[in-house]
Amino acid sequence: MNFFRRIKTLYILHRYPIRHDVWFSVTERLDILHRLTSVEKAHLRELTTIFLHEKRFIGVGVDLTSEMRVYIGVQACLPILHLGIRLLSGWTDIVVYPDAFYVNHNQVDECGVAHQNERLLSGEAWSKGPIVLSWADIERDINDCHRGHNVVIHEIAHKLDMLDGSSNGIPPLYYHMLIPEWTTALSEAYAELQLNVQHHQRTCMNPYAANSPAEFFAVLSEYFFTAPEVVLTNFPLVYRQLEQYYRQTPLTLVSDCSGRRSMLV
Ligand SMILES: [Zn+2]
Repeated sequence: MNFFRRIKTLYILHRYPIRHDVWFSVTERLDILHRLTSVEKAHLRELTTIFLHEKRFIGVGVDLTSEMRVYIGVQACLPILHLGIRLLSGWTDIVVYPDAFYVNHNQVDECGVAHQNERLLSGEAWSKGPIVLSWADIERDINDCHRGHNVVIHEIAHKLDMLDGSSNGIPPLYYHMLIPEWTTALSEAYAELQLNVQHHQRTCMNPYAANSPAEFFAVLSEYFFTAPEVVLTNFPLVYRQLEQYYRQTPLTLVSDCSGRRSMLV
């Protein structure tokens, strides 16, 4: 980080701190943070503070409290904990609805005929635009310990995927990562999941992931942070790629719903 950026960051951290009681109540309730070291939690708090300062929260039919903003911010910053806040720049707005919301999408089929589909969504990420979230779904992720589901992480994964201008399940990779290794690992796993869905067989993860490579990466990211053992057990090569991409090892130490901690690998 250059000198001027560091000064700006220090100013934001000093001028707009997250209240201690809010930070501790939020992080205590989020299972997915329990594996983090105290140093990582301190860094996450800095990232979240900057995130909350730089983003504009728009509640539509919902009054957003400071605690709700921290819940969203801290889950948004977990994936970029070791990547840097600049990966979440280039867009500002976070729109929050009280519950799942309907959107109209225009789709053109293979014959060139346009169709309008109305879909009920719990979240949506626009390229260079806002992310849209359902608070009811965020709350469910907080309360139900629903492993494999996290709407904020899902939409942030889409944002990371879109950084190179396309949403295709291949976010910009670091110089030490090889695109063929990423595409081979993910495409084989994706094909296996699609086959299971097509044959109406039980899938190891949310079958929504079989909709497209972009959705596959977003859902994989949800599992990587909330149920990493599912990814490691079923798609070990994918797990290693996600480890390298996110620079995190969520299976080193995880907590179950009761807060009990156990070593897995
Ligand atoms: Zn999605």
